[in-house]
Amino acid sequence: MIIFGTRGVRSTKATGNFDCPQCEADRGYRHRKVTQFFTLYFIPLIPLGNKGEYVECNHCKGTFITRVLDSSKSTDKEAFMAMYEQAIRHVMVKIMLADGVIDNNEKVAVLAIINKYGHNDMSSFQLDDYIKEVQADRSDISTYLKHVGPALNEHGKELLIKCALDVAYSDGHFDESERKMILDMGTIMEMSSAHIKGIMAEFVEQLN
Ligand SMILES: [Zn+2]
Repeated sequence: MIIFGTRGVRSTKATGNFDCPQCEADRGYRHRKVTQFFTLYFIPLIPLGNKGEYVECNHCKGTFITRVLDSSKSTDKEAFMAMYEQAIRHVMVKIMLADGVIDNNEKVAVLAIINKYGHNDMSSFQLDDYIKEVQADRSDISTYLKHVGPALNEHGKELLIKCALDVAYSDGHFDESERKMILDMGTIMEMSSAHIKGIMAEFVEQLN
């Protein structure tokens, strides 16, 4: 059997110093590029095209859109929020909306998780506005993760998996469908199943 597929391969385009929006300080960065490759037996052989680019802070490990390097950038905090923080907000709200009802307890739990893992505190009013925004976006979590995955590094992906675990465990039990959803999330972001299971094991250990 011939095993072939595609995979994103990361390379460094440039390095330097920038004003990190998350550290709010001058930090070293790596400008990373993700190239989609055709793989044969898991070996990247043929480059298929550019899958995305991001700027990674060497200190906080946050990843940002490349415009963050533009010295004349605006002071719009949302635009330069770390990609993983934006992804956490989006995915948490999508998970909450999945069953079609939003109750207040869920909102409180989701807000607590967003603010536990994020660097920018969100108020419950901001969450209400954000829920409307996410409701208007018809795409599902898989489509979103396929799009945002290449802009996340290992640190960002791990945080996103931890948040999903936190939501899944928040009602006191963890069932097979939740386990499958989280494994799928990791697979879409091109994480190995060993890696995802490792994060799960570590999370459970911290609960006990
Ligand atoms: Zn930083």
